[in-house]
Amino acid sequence: MILLLLFLSLNVLNYLRGLGRHFLMVFGLQAGLEALHQATGFGGLHLLHIPAVTAAGLFLDLRGLAVVLLLQPLLHIRELASRSGDALVLLGILTLTLLPPRLYLYRLRRTRREPAHGGRTAADASYPPGGGRGQLSSEVLEFDDEIQGLLRTAEEAVEADSVNLFLDGGGGFTRALSSSRPEVVTTGEGLVYSVFRRGEPALYSAGPGERGVEPGYLTDEGTVAFLSVPVMEHSTPLGVLCADSSRHHAFDQRDLHLMELFAREIARVLKRQRIHSRIRLDYRGLHILHEEGLRLAESLDLPELCMRIVDSAERVSGGTVVLLLKGERSYDVFAKGGIRPKERTVASLKGTVLEMVDANLDPFYHPDVSTFKTRVLPFAHKGVRSVLALPLFHESRLKGILTSLSQERDAFSPQQIELLKILVNQVSVNISNVLLHEEIKMMAFTDGLTGLINHRHFQERLSDEFRRSMRFNDPLSLILIDIDHFKKVNDTYGHPVGDVVLRGVAETIREGVREIDLPARYGGEEFAVMVVKAEARSARRIAERVRKSVKDREFDVDGHRFRVTTSLGIASYPSDALRKDQLIERADRALYAAKEQGRDRTVLYSDLP
Ligand code: GH3
Ligand code: MG
Ligand code: MG
Repeated sequence: MILLLLFLSLNVLNYLRGLGRHFLMVFGLQAGLEALHQATGFGGLHLLHIPAVTAAGLFLDLRGLAVVLLLQPLLHIRELASRSGDALVLLGILTLTLLPPRLYLYRLRRTRREPAHGGRTAADASYPPGGGRGQLSSEVLEFDDEIQGLLRTAEEAVEADSVNLFLDGGGGFTRALSSSRPEVVTTGEGLVYSVFRRGEPALYSAGPGERGVEPGYLTDEGTVAFLSVPVMEHSTPLGVLCADSSRHHAFDQRDLHLMELFAREIARVLKRQRIHSRIRLDYRGLHILHEEGLRLAESLDLPELCMRIVDSAERVSGGTVVLLLKGERSYDVFAKGGIRPKERTVASLKGTVLEMVDANLDPFYHPDVSTFKTRVLPFAHKGVRSVLALPLFHESRLKGILTSLSQERDAFSPQQIELLKILVNQVSVNISNVLLHEEIKMMAFTDGLTGLINHRHFQERLSDEFRRSMRFNDPLSLILIDIDHFKKVNDTYGHPVGDVVLRGVAETIREGVREIDLPARYGGEEFAVMVVKAEARSARRIAERVRKSVKDREFDVDGHRFRVTTSLGIASYPSDALRKDQLIERADRALYAAKEQGRDRTVLYSDLP
């Protein structure tokens, strides 16, 4: 009867191929126990079902467990017929016995799964700006499913216990997929490693009595047959595909050939996966560039634009960004977060890596500058390894250097470098626009002949300053300057010589006033100086200095040597005037008085009768 049962169940097993040897082991043990029990009539043997079922809980998957449980009544059919109560109790005990090992296994797998899937994949090479990772991983999973399908087909084709794929992450296998296991645990050495190193297939098919092999990963049973082929893309090894079996002589040359076909197919899937991720990364990168481009175009103020550039470049490169903007004699420093230089400007890039960029006008990239003797930036900084420095141009002249830094080695991927280059190109245009805008503004504000600010802009600045002085209760003085008998200069030497005189007088005025004062060309041969935070007497000192300097200046134009004098009028807030128009009008009255009193002199409004 029992033999019949065994026979039947083995046939069922054959039908349910794939349940594997573990099923045979468990069920065979139970059937044997049952046979012994019936032969000897020793009831205690029933207890041995418990370790058998514990083993089932450990080694079988859910499908196998279900089959084992369903087959249990067959083993106890005699008892079922006579003492059905006892048999049912036994079945209950067996079922309960299954639970703890199952639970243990479930928890074990959950804890192991994390690192098993934590390996880096091409698609995981995360784009620095956060987000999108979830989507990327779900794509990885789609490709994983496709590969898993291939592994299962391969397992059937070569009749292996399992077919596994190990993928290289640059410094070892970082990703493994299996036809039959939820995870594969590598052992660090064994055949898969040597196959990967040599790049050549390996076929072991031991016969009975011959030694098994060490595959390089944990298998459920002793592996006696092993087949392994490298997965290559052109001449680059991507990983190893292997099949294992506990059957003697399980594999032959035909299986090897089949495995090679599967390896090629898998290489194709991996390539597609990489291209797919790459396209997504490029698309995301371009999207970010587009967004940042719009943001940058909005800004028309140079310092604000520079900070936005730092922001955008950090987003694109994932590094810490420092922007150096070239001025007349120094570099302005723009940075945030990671590197916080004390200096707002630096005088020179001498002795730094950036000096090269400044000299050659070529981009610079180095994956690890930690061994360099020269420092990277012209101020104190620590722990920098990857450096990418790109020159910025305005009207084909170097306008600045944008540097992205990271404490990690080789932190910037070729795509990131490419994107940053595109951003820097765009940024050059933005900076040019702002500079052009500032130039146009300057032209609108300044007088073309003398370079001083013009009447209109002077009026605006005077209004602002007047309001400010009223609020802070500061004095404010206005000096009006008029060249004496200028008409005569024009009439005697000609208009162009008159222009030279105007430029000369303007220059003398600019040199004669303080840094904070504002000189302007007020009209034809009239000038004005806004003297901030100064009462009439301080303003008079400045005015007198200017008057004397002009008088001392000898003009030598077209062989004509001559000097000019000026008359100056001063009015002050709040002593002479309480409104801006009053201030101007009273300074003008003082100037008129200077003319009246014989020219070449300074007159204060307060001195007027
Ligand atoms: P006064 O001492 O009373 O100020 O005598 P003045 O000759 O300077 O007085 P007036 O205001 O009559 O003459 C100003 C002259 O300045 C008239 C004009 O031809 C000349 N002028 C105004 N703008 C310019 C300019 O841009 N270039 C030249 N060369 N001359 C100018
Ligand atoms: Mg005049
Ligand atoms: Mg004049």
